[in-house]
Amino acid sequence: MKPRPFAYRRATSVEEACSLLAGPVDARVIAGGQSLVPMMNLRLVSPALLVDIGGLAELQRVTLTGDALHVGALVRHRQLETDLLVARHVPLLASAVRHVAHQAVRNRGTLGGSLCHADPAAEFPACMLVLEATLHIASSVSERTVAAGDFFRGMFATALEPGEMLTGVSIPLTAARDPAALHEMSRRHGDLALAGIVGRRGQGVQRWAAFGIEDRAVRLAHLEAVLADKPQAGEAEMLAALAIDLPSTAGAGTAGRAKLVIAAELARRCRDDIDRAGVAA
Ligand SMILES: Cc1cc2nc3c(=O)[nH]c(=O)nc-3n(C[C@H](O)[C@H](O)[C@H](O)COP(=O)(O)OP(=O)(O)OC[C@H]3O[C@@H](n4cnc5c(N)ncnc54)[C@H](O)[C@@H]3O)c2cc1C
Repeated sequence: MKPRPFAYRRATSVEEACSLLAGPVDARVIAGGQSLVPMMNLRLVSPALLVDIGGLAELQRVTLTGDALHVGALVRHRQLETDLLVARHVPLLASAVRHVAHQAVRNRGTLGGSLCHADPAAEFPACMLVLEATLHIASSVSERTVAAGDFFRGMFATALEPGEMLTGVSIPLTAARDPAALHEMSRRHGDLALAGIVGRRGQGVQRWAAFGIEDRAVRLAHLEAVLADKPQAGEAEMLAALAIDLPSTAGAGTAGRAKLVIAAELARRCRDDIDRAGVAA
């Protein structure tokens, strides 16, 4: 299928993009187009206007300030994989990219696009939860920040209001440098995850999240409590915690219970990786 007719404008600044988004027609940002274009071709979405932000150099940077790494919304997956600042300060992101799609998609897809698309099976939203990232949002009238924990609202749903766009994320360095790990199960390497777990362990801090399981990336507060109390908790104890953290899955019959068992195994693998990284550090 082909998309319904639409108008196209290429923004030359964040301000121009925001003012185009604030107009009376149904407008959408296009970044890498890796999710939006297939959805338009299938006519799952039919915006009247596409606002192309692909040329905005100010959103393509990774920068370091005193206490945070700032990643622009237009930083492509490929750049996350190769950027030296990301490798040094947020190795979790660099390793997560290797699970995302294939090289052709990674060359175009952007971090901001992945977060705003909010696919429940995507890796980056869960990484943002675990890293306690702050998301920066702009519109024609204001700028605001939203904690990652408040940004993902459901399947393909976020805290973005009409007329708003994501400009980037800030990741606190204290969290970013902690040992962390991500494991997922998918049909083939590069496919979206059928189930995935990501975890981080800092000084007295456990942060865990699941993706590909519920309708959005979910923080696993009960698993965090179990592992804080007993770092070497067995798989059965982790499974019991996950059943509380992932209630829709736990209540979804045999298929749901199978997913929980898989999630517990993925959590064990993450915990073992984190243990090894902790010893090495
Ligand atoms: C074959 C294939 C396999 C894939 N596998 C995976 C996978 O394993 N894991 C995974 O996580 N992803 C996967 N993806 C998705 C891929 O990572 C996309 O690139 C990503 O989800 C969207 O990024 P994009 O820059 O292409 O966004 P676009 O497609 O341009 O936009 C996606 C959505 O986000 C909105 N948007 C984009 N940027 C902004 C912004 N700055 N502000 C506000 N709204 C914005 C758009 O309006 C649109 O609604 C796959 C895609 C394909 C085609």
